[in-house]
Amino acid sequence: MKTIIMVILMFSSGIVFTQTKGELSDRFDKKRESEHFVLQWNAGQSSEKEIDEAAAFAEEAYSKLSDLLGKENMPTVKLIMTFRGEGVDPETYKKSVPHVDGQGRIHLYRFDSGGYLGAVAHEMVHAVRVNTLPRWERFFEEGLASAIAYHLYPNTKAFARYGYPLDVVAGYWLVSGKGIPLETMRVQHNRLNLKCSFQTYVMREDFFNYLAETYGMKKLMAFAYAANVGHVDAYPEHWDKPFGELVSDWENDLRKRYHAYEGAEGLADEYFKNTPVRYSKACEAGIDY
Ligand SMILES: [Zn+2]
Repeated sequence: MKTIIMVILMFSSGIVFTQTKGELSDRFDKKRESEHFVLQWNAGQSSEKEIDEAAAFAEEAYSKLSDLLGKENMPTVKLIMTFRGEGVDPETYKKSVPHVDGQGRIHLYRFDSGGYLGAVAHEMVHAVRVNTLPRWERFFEEGLASAIAYHLYPNTKAFARYGYPLDVVAGYWLVSGKGIPLETMRVQHNRLNLKCSFQTYVMREDFFNYLAETYGMKKLMAFAYAANVGHVDAYPEHWDKPFGELVSDWENDLRKRYHAYEGAEGLADEYFKNTPVRYSKACEAGIDY
């Protein structure tokens, strides 16, 4: 009898005490665990096949991310990942976007292309880092997550490039003069980031890629784990130049890359006709910022 009780106790404690970053959500009827994740979904909303693929992909991305950030910077508990279908509000038709909440839980919605997986690497960067840093500088964190996701999966078909080259998409905004200046994006991050997401995400991603490619990923990682992480006044200490100077260097570089890209104008046209960007209105100087 004693043995049976012990076995039952051990068995149930194993289930109850899986440690997670954040609380499990009670709005899902299905749950599965992999080595580093607890996945939650609703049976009628996501298929077993989608969850199988997501679990495998999440573990692969986790291992790549761990190599890049260092094991010591990875969580000691499992990350929660939820799957919420299309995320379209039946009344307003407003679409929810993948995000990480204040507890570090990853919430995914399907995209037109790439199902649930397109945003996994980007959101995982946020989930790993949130609540572990001396400060959270939103503009920097967004740029870092995008640059790391690009570094790990350059051929993603998901938001915001939809598989089009970054040189072309980010370059178009800059060369056409319809992009938002990076300094404006930084200062007005909370107001503009989602509202003007087709402009902000690709331009900021290209800027942080440029830093990683020009100065090396190691330098970006050192800044990402410094006490003054992401602080605008800390750029000279980490990059030998103030933020504004790095931005003009980047603009010159991106302009060159755009003009050197064969068929850039045609591709940019296609991007604006064939992707969800066509449903959105670009933010404009003097009106939106
Ligand atoms: Zn993000």
